Amino acid sequence: LVRLRQRLAGSQGSLGRGLLALLSRDRLDEDTWESIEDTLLTADIGVAPTQELVERLRTRLRVEGEGDPRTVLREELVALVDPDLDRRLQVSGEDGTPGVVLVVGVNGAGKTTTVGKIARILVAEERSVVLGAADTFRAAAVEQLATWGERVGVDVVRGEEGADPASVAFRAVQSGAERGVDTVLVDTAGRLQNKQGLMDELGKVKRVIEKQAPVTEVLLVLDATTGQNGLIQARVFSEAVAVTGIVLTKLDGSAKGGIVVQVQRELGVPVKLVGLGEGPDDLAPFDAGAFVDALLG
Ligand code: GDP
Repeated sequence: LVRLRQRLAGSQGSLGRGLLALLSRDRLDEDTWESIEDTLLTADIGVAPTQELVERLRTRLRVEGEGDPRTVLREELVALVDPDLDRRLQVSGEDGTPGVVLVVGVNGAGKTTTVGKIARILVAEERSVVLGAADTFRAAAVEQLATWGERVGVDVVRGEEGADPASVAFRAVQSGAERGVDTVLVDTAGRLQNKQGLMDELGKVKRVIEKQAPVTEVLLVLDATTGQNGLIQARVFSEAVAVTGIVLTKLDGSAKGGIVVQVQRELGVPVKLVGLGEGPDDLAPFDAGAFVDALLG
């Protein structure tokens, strides 16, 4: 965890350092507040949250004259990230059926990698897992998931390239249910066609799964480096399927951690996990306090 924190701090810490330097100036004049706003916007915190935050900081630091900018900034950033959201992953089923986690998002966001990393965490917790390679659109995606399966030591249910994703998802959950596993993780195709196409495809995948077991979690994987574009994609996905949690990947390579705030507001669901690298252990539960501490460096 310390290592992950350092990695996050490496790319994100400049935001916190920049803000603290500005807030520590002797005179908090208009120019300084504007620079603070610019810094927050550059980090992808979004217009409305930035205005709210600056208003709160002004009130507390200038009007009420609270002393320590670091403490005030930390408290306000934590509040903005909303520390009270329930971020637990729902990986367990009920009444003897496996928990089913559907992983969705555009190609390249990090879905397959995230499925592999989650499998690894679950296996380390001594849970039994089956993976479903329902991203049948790209042969490479199926191979990639198969490699993760070998690495982590879990079975992968797969179909031929171009097979119906819903049938692969069905067979994966069927296989998991027959074997009585704890969790089935289903990787899906990330083709972002039009919204209707996406709705039809994900809707069908979800429906066939639910003939056997309820989907306990729908994770939307989002690349933190894609900014506003990523947000637009996120909206399309959340309209196509009821997303229950967000995985924000590539935070290690991005100085735009503020996207956490925007995406939570936009979709009304919590960021549950963050991707901090390409390796098998580079996935961490999202924790508001730890995240802000990393931002502040
Ligand atoms: P998919 O198309 O959504 O399944 O995306 P992939 O899982 O194939 O990932 C796309 C690329 O992003 C791969 O090169 C991954 O190694 C890389 N990737 C995934 N997650 C992360 C992350 O958290 N950090 C970094 N730096 N790279 C990542």
